[in-house]
Amino acid sequence: MNGTASESATTAPSGASAIRALGLGEAAAGLLAAIDRMGPAFAERAFRHDAEASFPAENYQDLRQAGFLKLCVPKRHGGLGADYRTYMLVSQRIGFWCATTANTFNMHVANSLWTAGLVDELDLSAEERAAHEARRALHYGRMVDGAVYAQPFSEASSAAAGVSPFGTMASRVEGGYRLNGRKIFASLSGAADYYGVLCTEAKGEGAASRRDTMFMAVPANAEGLSIVGDWDPLGMRGTVSRTLLLEDVPVPDEAQLMPPGIYIQAATRWPHMFMTLTGTYLGLMQAAYEFTLRYLRGEVPGMPVKRRMYPTKQIAVAEMLVKLELAWAIWLRAVAEARLDPSAEERARALACQYTVMEHCNEVCRLAIRTCGGQSMLKSLPLERHYRDSRCGSLMLPWTAEICMDRLGHGALYRKGETDE
Ligand SMILES: Cc1cc2nc3c(=O)[nH]c(=O)nc-3n(C[C@H](O)[C@H](O)[C@H](O)COP(=O)(O)OP(=O)(O)OC[C@H]3O[C@@H](n4cnc5c(N)ncnc54)[C@H](O)[C@@H]3O)c2cc1C
Repeated sequence: MNGTASESATTAPSGASAIRALGLGEAAAGLLAAIDRMGPAFAERAFRHDAEASFPAENYQDLRQAGFLKLCVPKRHGGLGADYRTYMLVSQRIGFWCATTANTFNMHVANSLWTAGLVDELDLSAEERAAHEARRALHYGRMVDGAVYAQPFSEASSAAAGVSPFGTMASRVEGGYRLNGRKIFASLSGAADYYGVLCTEAKGEGAASRRDTMFMAVPANAEGLSIVGDWDPLGMRGTVSRTLLLEDVPVPDEAQLMPPGIYIQAATRWPHMFMTLTGTYLGLMQAAYEFTLRYLRGEVPGMPVKRRMYPTKQIAVAEMLVKLELAWAIWLRAVAEARLDPSAEERARALACQYTVMEHCNEVCRLAIRTCGGQSMLKSLPLERHYRDSRCGSLMLPWTAEICMDRLGHGALYRKGETDE
């Protein structure tokens, strides 16, 4: 019922012009077309998964069959070799059809996107590079075979915001590590084959340090790993983001998704890695906008009454389109600027992009409901779900809307190292 992209009315650039703007070509167009073939089924299933707060396993089976679970695995490892720009556009298109699938797919993809070309650009010793190449070959092989990786970082502390070390600890043992800790909001809980866990390597008596952050793939069937708590949230209900408990979980050395300590270098030097969820919410915003057009034009099945002739509707749609276009504009620019060691201006723009997309998404969904009216918020239509789902974008660490604003304001008023002392 989400429907297809509107052909007749004005839409923001979700297809060909976005491909052009990002300098992409036929390969990206082919991936978007593949998503559009699967998308209507995703949109239809979203009603049930939202109602049940259940994981859209059939969507993952479709994505698996179409090769998308290896989207960002390099070609030499058997993957599709999609780069950051291509991934972001694909993510946006999945988000258009089913936000919850895009949100979880982002967690899966991050495990390959962050560990491939991004790590290759960082400063690593020759030994670290060789060890990383051997380990990632194992993880990529699993993804190529259809394994799903999750990415539970959050801990109900300031760690996921990048302020303090992760409280989940990795203690060295013969041939690997033992993990102990607790991760909240683990999207794909119960559905993933591996959980990409960020933790801190325990080093003797000294205080834990963010420099000792490790990134480990924990098998879902590992001894000592359990999923606890219920899942009955406001929105993004199909993500099934329950709590993971890690109690003396043994993981071998090859579980490492990045060499020890490299995550912090990546987070500092490749900040756009934290902007990847914007694709989900840009797609969701596009879906809410296009639904509104169809609704007001009397094109939604069962809703034949046209409402487009009222000036207030036209103003509301114009307002939505302006917000959508602004989000697209900063998003295309920030995505195109993603690289190692971006300038201060590009870093700020990435934060501004995250803020704009997440907040505008919620705003466009709010306007959509107000202007379509009471019947549009019935559960038989997607808009009320879009509205609830849209609320989640601004809450995503490490770049929540509040953190983006704090960092933007501080960064604009203080030069590096400057204080008021
Ligand atoms: C549907 C959904 C799926 C999710 N999936 C995942 C997942 O797969 N993996 C994962 O790791 N996490 C996931 N998360 C968790 C998400 O990234 C956040 O970690 C979580 O929402 C934080 O909740 P909290 O109440 O503990 O936030 P808190 O850390 O308590 O923060 C509350 C608010 O305070 C503000 N705040 C926090 N720290 C600072 C600071 N240093 N400076 C300024 N303001 C600050 C922020 O605005 C934040 O929104 C998911 C969340 C949702 C809603």
